[in-house]
Amino acid sequence: MASRALTGHVAAADALSPRAAFARLPRLTAPLVRYAAADPWEEDTARLPRALAAHRRRMRAFAEAELAPRAAAADLAPHPAVGALAPGLDGLLVAAGRAGLLSDLLPRPLGAASPALIRHGLALPQALKVEELAAVDGGLMLLVSAHALGVAPVLLGGDLGQLRRVLLPAFRASERGAPHVFAYAITEPAAGSDVEDGHGAASYRPGVVARRAPGGWRLTGTKCFISGGDIASTVVVFAALDGEGMASWTAFLVPRGAPGFHVVRTEHKLGMRASGAAELRLDEVYVPDADVVGGPRQGWALNRATLNLSRIPVGAMGVGFARAATAAAEDFACRFRLAGRPLVDYQEVQLALAEMHARTLAARAMVWAAARQPQARQAEAAAVKFHATDTARAVCELAMDLLGNHAVLHAERVERALRDARLTQIFEGTNQINRLAVIEDQQERLLARVATSAPIP
Ligand SMILES: Cc1cc2nc3c(=O)[nH]c(=O)nc-3n(C[C@H](O)[C@H](O)[C@H](O)COP(=O)(O)OP(=O)(O)OC[C@H]3O[C@@H](n4cnc5c(N)ncnc54)[C@H](O)[C@@H]3O)c2cc1C
Repeated sequence: MASRALTGHVAAADALSPRAAFARLPRLTAPLVRYAAADPWEEDTARLPRALAAHRRRMRAFAEAELAPRAAAADLAPHPAVGALAPGLDGLLVAAGRAGLLSDLLPRPLGAASPALIRHGLALPQALKVEELAAVDGGLMLLVSAHALGVAPVLLGGDLGQLRRVLLPAFRASERGAPHVFAYAITEPAAGSDVEDGHGAASYRPGVVARRAPGGWRLTGTKCFISGGDIASTVVVFAALDGEGMASWTAFLVPRGAPGFHVVRTEHKLGMRASGAAELRLDEVYVPDADVVGGPRQGWALNRATLNLSRIPVGAMGVGFARAATAAAEDFACRFRLAGRPLVDYQEVQLALAEMHARTLAARAMVWAAARQPQARQAEAAAVKFHATDTARAVCELAMDLLGNHAVLHAERVERALRDARLTQIFEGTNQINRLAVIEDQQERLLARVATSAPIP
């Protein structure tokens, strides 16, 4: 039989336990306090507005039904040939499309989101979705969710014709079970930060260039590390106009079969292995004027705006990994016995579990607070991204410490969460670049203070 109390605590039935003590409070004030949720996830969910709660439950059910059975094998599968997916992953994309996960950035009837859900904006539903998927597996989460990054510039800058011709047919195809994935291509072999930060972009010589051609443009150059670039039906490629700098950046819709478009390879990488990070070569790829998103020279604005929107869900990925690591550590601490006692009975272990729990809670609170705002403010989105993903790594490290030898075992889940979390500190701008983005956002205010402040002697 289970022991009545963990070391350092009184039993729940003890008169000094909050369970017994709170039961003695007057009926009027008793509901002001709470002790011992049977299912903390369900309690957090029930506190959300109805449409968000239903969405969160649906995303968890999807993750458990479709990601969990594929996760371990997808992470361990041999690196697939270019353009192929590890076994079983086609089925995941089909299921995601049918369930509306590839068309949920617009409300019905245009997309799959319920109007009641979209009333809460785009960021919070996306953050809830991404946390649920990441809590099960990072690679499968990215395979499904990098698509939103590709769709974002079309939503932000596309015209009605592009919406009708490109986006809506893509959404309908996905919902019918023929997934149409978008990818977002800004990174170049010589530029990661320089395509995300104004200071670097000011002196960067663009590597992908668009040359004028009759009725359109010809794109030449190389993009790299493009999530889902290997399987995408449409890649949004950012290119500078011939002879101009990054201020001329323009977003082009490039279909997978376009002559001159090549997927060169996908990278063997540390984590999120189920999602390909592709190198793409463009040899004089023709793009008609009708497929320029937002018009020429709108690319930089679309890029920066997309990153503002997408960095909050990246923070939610961090929350998912921190949650997975915390759950795995808690599970291990209850299963493993040290000198005959369950690990969780040791107070040092309790302190570590409490720390992991608190950090995960704090990261989620930060993500949700930013996601609830109607506008994605740069300083907030960047801060959420670096703080939540740094937290994820720290929580995974605490779990690694707690599991000891077992931490390195694939089956225990923690090392996979750590490898996946590490990637989120790098993509969508390294966490250093995101820190600088916070200061860039505050630059004018800081400079005004410099100008009006008396120097400290
Ligand atoms: C798994 C994965 C998925 C990705 N998915 C996509 C995708 O879908 N689409 C896409 O376009 N890209 C994608 N990327 C690319 C990603 O966004 C870049 O790798 C990232 O921005 C870092 O760029 P970099 O490696 O070129 O770093 P660099 O720019 O070469 O930076 C190198 C180092 O210098 C630091 N640094 C740079 N500038 C400054 C500065 N001004 N001050 C201080 N430090 C600085 C950086 O923080 C970093 O530590 C992905 C990358 C990975 C790993």
